[in-house]
Amino acid sequence: MSRFQVKKVAVLGAGVMGAQIAAHLVNLKIPVVLFDLPAKEGPKNGIVIKAIEGLKKLKPAPLGVPEDAALIQQANYEEHMDVLKECDLIIEAIAERMDWKTDLYHKIAPFIADNAIVASNTSGLSITKLSEALPEAIKPRFCGIHFFNPPRYMTLVELINTPTTEPRVLDDLEAFVTSGLGKGVIRAHDTPNFIANRVGIASMLATIKEAETFGLSYDVVDDLTGKKLGRASSGTFRTADVVGLDTMAHVIKTLQDNLGPGKTEDPFSDIYGTPPVLAKLLESKSLGQKTGAGFYKKVGRDILRLDPESMDYVPGGAKANEVVGRMLKKPAGERLKLLREAEGAEPRFLWAILRDQFHYAAVHLESIAETARDIDFAMRWGFGAKQGPFELWQQAGWLQVANWIKEDIDAGKALSMAPLPDWVFKGPVADAGGVHTPEGSWSASAKKFVPKRQLAVYQRQFFPEDVLGSKAPSFTTAGTTLHEDDAIRLWTLDGVNGEAGDVVIASIKTKMHAISPDVVEGLAMAVDLAEASYKGLVIWSNDEMFSAGADLQAMLPAFMMAGVSAVEGAEAEMQRVMLKLRYSAVPVVSAVRGLALGGGCEMAVYSAKRVAAMESYIGLVEVGVGLVPGAGGLTYIARRAAENAATSTNKDILPFLTEGFTAAAMAKVGTSAIESRKIGYLLDSDVIVPNKDELLFVAVNEARALFNSGYRAPHKRPFPVVGRNGLATITGQLVNMRDGGFISAHDFNIGRLIASVVCGGDVDAGTLVNEEYLMTLERKAFCSLLEHPKTQERIMGMMSTGKPVRN
Ligand code: NAD
Repeated sequence: MSRFQVKKVAVLGAGVMGAQIAAHLVNLKIPVVLFDLPAKEGPKNGIVIKAIEGLKKLKPAPLGVPEDAALIQQANYEEHMDVLKECDLIIEAIAERMDWKTDLYHKIAPFIADNAIVASNTSGLSITKLSEALPEAIKPRFCGIHFFNPPRYMTLVELINTPTTEPRVLDDLEAFVTSGLGKGVIRAHDTPNFIANRVGIASMLATIKEAETFGLSYDVVDDLTGKKLGRASSGTFRTADVVGLDTMAHVIKTLQDNLGPGKTEDPFSDIYGTPPVLAKLLESKSLGQKTGAGFYKKVGRDILRLDPESMDYVPGGAKANEVVGRMLKKPAGERLKLLREAEGAEPRFLWAILRDQFHYAAVHLESIAETARDIDFAMRWGFGAKQGPFELWQQAGWLQVANWIKEDIDAGKALSMAPLPDWVFKGPVADAGGVHTPEGSWSASAKKFVPKRQLAVYQRQFFPEDVLGSKAPSFTTAGTTLHEDDAIRLWTLDGVNGEAGDVVIASIKTKMHAISPDVVEGLAMAVDLAEASYKGLVIWSNDEMFSAGADLQAMLPAFMMAGVSAVEGAEAEMQRVMLKLRYSAVPVVSAVRGLALGGGCEMAVYSAKRVAAMESYIGLVEVGVGLVPGAGGLTYIARRAAENAATSTNKDILPFLTEGFTAAAMAKVGTSAIESRKIGYLLDSDVIVPNKDELLFVAVNEARALFNSGYRAPHKRPFPVVGRNGLATITGQLVNMRDGGFISAHDFNIGRLIASVVCGGDVDAGTLVNEEYLMTLERKAFCSLLEHPKTQERIMGMMSTGKPVRN
């Protein structure tokens, strides 16, 4: 375990990156001071103040909740240099100019604490050259730390050492960035643009070139190179618009300055020229989304695309040929063969850009990366690709694809005449059928397969993301299975990473982890098993979906056949199991990541504790399908309001209840774990975990710790409700909203039903009730709505289009 403690971070530069990095640090409870130049007019912190204000409005939101912007300490280089001395880590993120950066280093050097690490977020300047501006004593603690924009959401951080960086420094930083900031770290060599931007931007330039060669329009290229190709849904040109064409030009310029024609031996240097269309856009200050126009332009509701011939914007939205879409669904080997051999421009274009990327990655592997794994992770984590280039190549059949690339190079079709390196055709890679093996991934410089770095921090990841071919253990089969059917797997770690099998793990297997009657049955079994022989139960799955809620699809046939009574039974069973989770003799811990909606949210709030990945989106969304939360969600809201009021000064339940009511009635979903906590679905005592891959580790340890501390389930204690008085108040507000045209008549009906449940029905204020009583009200409200035609219309709409129906 690293003892490197980060008590405070200084971020230098409150621009696009610096401000967002500061926000991400605040999200994860790391004190941060944000510096910029002193403002020429007004308050000296003016630049930083403006940047922090900007964070509150930026989309996608860099902050978990906007009010946390106030936690970023403001500073400028004129007044606050002493604050730097308090910082263990200094991240420099000022404008991309070597001279400005080195000037700043001279200025800050006297204020850097003895053990502080100093790191630059440069996109591609030489880290070694930057380090030369620092005193000898600081050089061993200096390195590159390259975040990707937007830093809260992009997984990748590249760490780059110089010849003088002490190895411990990078290990410490890797541990902090991985566990503390939740990022995926790769180590990059100090070569221009490092790994991700080197391969990613070369690939973008290649795509622009091939699109021109094959005469394809930008919208079609984006449709082809987005989700269909397993890449970021914005494809190529829209991604460029989002990133900013000036930023992209900057990265291209670093390639030109260091590797352009005549500069070095890079055999691909011909493609580093600024594409003429990009040059024209830059000239007219069309920088993409930030200026309203780039490769695309939004006019009213229409998205127009640029016609590179006329430089006019013309109607966009064209899609790729459906046949190509079908080709892309084929297994990898067949897919590449089809694309390569097809007649049309679209498939041939796709083969060309894939070939270019394979070719580029293979030729550069030795100089830019330690192993092929780093290139694949770079493209996944930095560019949103599902698979890296080597993974796809290997999956499609290593030698076959290698020979196709060779044929194209020989025929002059590739972007460079550089041959593929020998290791592609002969030796361990060819023998193993690819660069990734269980032993490790290919290092072209070390000429062997190299395993992942063994840092203590990685022992916190039981099932880390891995590359295809590494044959890493899967959570679906690892450990010891206690019970498994189509709906759920109950298992223990038992031997995974040396872990003991003392906690039951329930992994829901249904689509979107919907809670079907079989899942409910499985959860009940999980509690029974855990109570009988284990320390606790953890509900966890290794994807971005904790649970999308009750399985309406599974309920419908019963409803059609036997009417509402059949559903009422299923609902009662779900409620019973929620209470079973809550009153289990051993602690139940929900390990939430991604969506926890409706029944998923209820499962979480009925657990003894929640550990949630930072990117967790929790809410009771039943209103969207014309229903009310029916598996204990409303009962939870009433109970929490009573508990919160009990600890408040004036013991008034209604204000607390109104918050919970509003969240359910408006189907509010937290946009982060932090906001989900603010809404009330996570408690202060719950744990927010920065790194998704550590979630299971933390959850199992929490369950164990609770048990070892003598866990007992909460008392079944009756609690007061606000009754008919509270209901009258909330109803008054609903009437105003309906009469003001803010909600429909059916929304009013649903709102009123929610209110009547959370208020405890037609009883006196302060009446004591229990959970079973409220759950009965909940169930009745749920079932009455199920019979309502407007609710049925909402359910059908959601099931057929996935979108809520407003009625
Ligand atoms: P930016 O232009 O948004 O912000 C730069 C900041 O530097 C500004 O706040 C400015 O006041 C400050 N600054 C300018 N000159 C200065 C000087 N001489 N001394 C001190 N401060 C000065 O830039 P950005 O996009 O945030 O980029 C910052 C760094 O991060 C660059 O090195 C860039 O290459 C890198 N980076 C950018 C991105 C991206 O997508 N924008 C991604 C990764 C890395």
